[in-house]
Parts: sequence; structure tokens; C-alpha cells
Amino acid sequence: MITLFEIQRPNADYCITNFYGVILKQQIDHTGSYYAASAHATPARPSLKGDVSTDVCIIGAGFTGLVTGLTLAELGYRVVILEAARVGWGASGRNGGQIINGFSREIDYIEHTVGREGAKALADLALEGGNVIRELAERYSIDCDLKHGSVLAAYTNKQVRDIADTIDMWKQRGRDGIDLLDKNAIRDHVGTDVYAGGWLDHNGGHIHPLNLAQGEAAAAESLDATIYEQTRVTDVDWVRTNPVVHTENGSVTARYVVLAGNAYLGKTVKELYPKILPASTQIIVTETLDDATANALLPTDKCVEDANYVLDYFRLTADKRLLFGGGTVYGGQDVADVEKALRPNMEKLFPFMRGIKVEYGWQGNIALTWSRLPHVGRLGGNTYFAHGYSGHGVTSTHMMGRVLAHAIHGDASAFDIFAGMPARSFPGGQTLSVPLSTLGCWWYSMRDKLGI
Ligand SMILES: Cc1cc2nc3c(=O)[nH]c(=O)nc-3n(C[C@H](O)[C@H](O)[C@H](O)COP(=O)(O)OP(=O)(O)OC[C@H]3O[C@@H](n4cnc5c(N)ncnc54)[C@H](O)[C@@H]3O)c2cc1C
Repeated sequence: MITLFEIQRPNADYCITNFYGVILKQQIDHTGSYYAASAHATPARPSLKGDVSTDVCIIGAGFTGLVTGLTLAELGYRVVILEAARVGWGASGRNGGQIINGFSREIDYIEHTVGREGAKALADLALEGGNVIRELAERYSIDCDLKHGSVLAAYTNKQVRDIADTIDMWKQRGRDGIDLLDKNAIRDHVGTDVYAGGWLDHNGGHIHPLNLAQGEAAAAESLDATIYEQTRVTDVDWVRTNPVVHTENGSVTARYVVLAGNAYLGKTVKELYPKILPASTQIIVTETLDDATANALLPTDKCVEDANYVLDYFRLTADKRLLFGGGTVYGGQDVADVEKALRPNMEKLFPFMRGIKVEYGWQGNIALTWSRLPHVGRLGGNTYFAHGYSGHGVTSTHMMGRVLAHAIHGDASAFDIFAGMPARSFPGGQTLSVPLSTLGCWWYSMRDKLGI
């Protein structure tokens, strides 16, 4: 066939089409992020061609898939990971890099949902994800700019009171290491006078997420796991005892399958589609700052997120740029101009950042669930899934990878608690779920603005 059109840009998709626009070959590269530009060099991996069999086939090479695969490879399983684009291409390689402990809902809500015993077991897992990150970074010497400590920032006195209550709730469940900050104390960490207080979680921190994902992939490969990139899964036959995963150019038959495609899984498995709603969030990164400006912004080099429903989050990168994120678009559409969307928020907090150049802007999709707790379970006997971390997935994915791996290995105690949580579909179906969720989001944002 004659190839007529060839398009290749750095950090963008590579696509060859014929005269009729039919795609003959396509390579999906990382989004044009600061992370892609600053990641350690990693060789591209081959795509799957032909039929293979294995113990465990994992769909998606984000943190969920990688940590599940790595843990199972450590336990001696043969692991194949199928990734539609590149390792870390999804949310895992383009997020704010913030290690936020706990869940996207308060522990008293979780207790109401799963009962006292279940809530205790989950509370015991609240620090697991951060611990797994630090453990893997050390065990496999993953150079991912790991820093310690994260700040939750409150705009209003009501938010400060809520934060104080949450600290008490965690203390009653044996979790320490969180300091309540008043207006003066938060000023030691963040160079703005707008916050009324907040907390400092000594078990939080931040990372270069793409380097972490690539490091975890290399660790899994060092234990004989196989990762295929540019390999989109088109269908999963999960009814069989040994499920079969179909790709564009091959198939994998496995004893167990793990669905870890999160917001990007789309309709690959139609039973899961109504349970999660993709939402895009955006990030900008400035030029490298001089030491005085970097110190004026974040003197203790902690990461920060605020306590609003639609929140801003920011931190310094290892080479002293401000990485600033925010915004939520339900449905996962891209905004037209990321800098235009985020710069006003950045300058409102830090007026001295006017005139500083923004060098990178990108966006990515998180997966929301109706309850804001992860949606976890099994299809048939041997196909597992976990997704829907609802915006706070850097730690939850690392915890969940271990939970999934242990369930496959025979200890499903934690998995069963997650799987037992009710998972409602989004109301309104395909047509109305986005406008209804947008309306709900507007309502909660108004409450934040009014301080109620
Ligand atoms: C811009 C942004 C900022 C964020 N900031 C933070 C933060 O600071 N702290 C925090 O805790 N959380 C943050 N999050 C959320 C966090 O990044 C995610 O919850 C987490 O990375 C999800 O990991 P995952 O492995 O489940 O999914 P992903 O990382 O999205 O990986 C899923 C992978 O599956 C692949 N895939 C999907 N379908 C198929 C298929 N059919 N065939 C083959 N492969 C497939 C995709 O290509 C993708 O690579 C942020 C998210 C975004 C988008």
C-alpha cells in the first residue's frame, strides 16, 4: 500500500495514513508535559503480535497495573502488561505528583458504608500507598525526586475547623504525623496570606510521577514481566475460567486478568463503563525560578493542595519550577488554552508570579465514581478491576496494586472490603451524567465561595 501522509512531532502521536485517511500505523507518545521532557530516557517497548499465554495479564501500565504486576512478579507469577500507548502515558505519568494519604472521602463516611470493622481495616491502609512508593523507590533505586511532607490549605475558618475534626478522627484511629496549622504556621510553608490555616502531613510528599512509573516498569521487567506498548485491548472474554484478552494484533490467555485502564478504559469492558466518569484536570509549569522566588513560594519545599471542592494544587519541581494544577471538566474534554485557564489562579495566590513564563501546559483524565471511593471487584471468577480513585490516586493506586496482587495470591481480605462497597452508576446515563455532575460540582463550588 502506498503511504501518503506521515506525521511525527516530538512528544506527540506518530501516525501514517493512506490516501483515504485510513490509519496504517500509529504510535501514541506521551503528552507534551514537563514530565515527558524531563524523564529519564527509556526505550520504547514492542507491541504484541500473536497469541501468548501467561499467569496474569494486566491491562494498563499506570500505577495500578504496574504495582499489581510488580508485586505478582515478586511473588513468582508470569506477568504480561498490555498498554495502549506508553508506560505512564495516562494519569500516572502526568499528575501533580502529590503523595496524599487516605481516601477521597472521610473515614466516618467509609465507616457508615462498610461498618466499623471494615473501616478500621481501611484506616489501617491509609498510609500504605505512600509507604509502598517509598519502599519501591528504595528497593529498586528509582530516581523520582522523592520529597517529604504535604500541606492541605484552608481558605476559610470553617475549612480549618473541618480539618481539625478530620485530624481528630484520624488520631482516634491511630494515625499520627499530621499537624494542624494556623494562619501564621501555614505561612511558614506557603508564600501567600490568603490561607486561614491547614495541615501538614509528615507522611505526604511529592515525586516525578513519570520517572516513578518508568522505574516500576523496569523493576517488573527485571523480574521477567513483559510489557507491550502500543497495544490496545479491544475486548476481554472474562466469562471463561481462563479469560482471553484480545488486542488489535493478538491475544493473551491468562489464569487471571486485571483491568487497570482507569479513566482511559472507556467502553473496552462495557459492564464497567457506567460506574466511572472521566474528568480532565490541567497543569502548567513555569520556567526555572531563581532561588529567592522559589523560597518565597514554598520555603519548605512541601506540596500543597487546597480544601475546595474544585481545588488548586502546586509544588516545586526538582529543578525549581512552579508546577500548578487545577480545574475539572466532567466528561474529560480538553480545555482549549491551559495557561489561560490556570494562570489567573496562580497569580491570585502569588501576585509576584506575574511576568514569569509558563513553559509547559497539559491535561489528563481522572476517573470519578459516584461515591468518590474506588470501584473494585471481579468479573466472572478471575478478572479483577480497580479504578475510580476520584482525583487522589498516587497513593491509592500503590495501595491497590498490593491489594489486587494479594487477592490473586490468595489473601482477599482487604480486596473483599473494597469490593463490598456499593458502586452506583452515574445518574442520567450516557446523555445526562456529564451535565448533572457539572451542576453538582457548581453547587459545591458555590458553597466553597460562600464559606458554607
Ligand atoms: C492532571 C492530573 C493531576 C493529578 N494529580 C494528582 C496528585 O497530585 N495526587 C494524586 O494522588 N492523584 C493525582 N491525580 C490522579 C492520579 O494520577 C490517578 O488517580 C492515578 O494515576 C491513576 O492510575 P491508574 O494506573 O489507575 O490509571 P492511569 O495512570 O490513567 O493508567 C491507565 C492506563 O491504561 C491504559 N489503557 C486504558 N485502556 C486501555 C486498553 N483498552 N488497552 C490497553 N491499555 C489501556 C491507558 O493508556 C493508561 O496508560 C491526577 C490526575 C491527573 C490527570
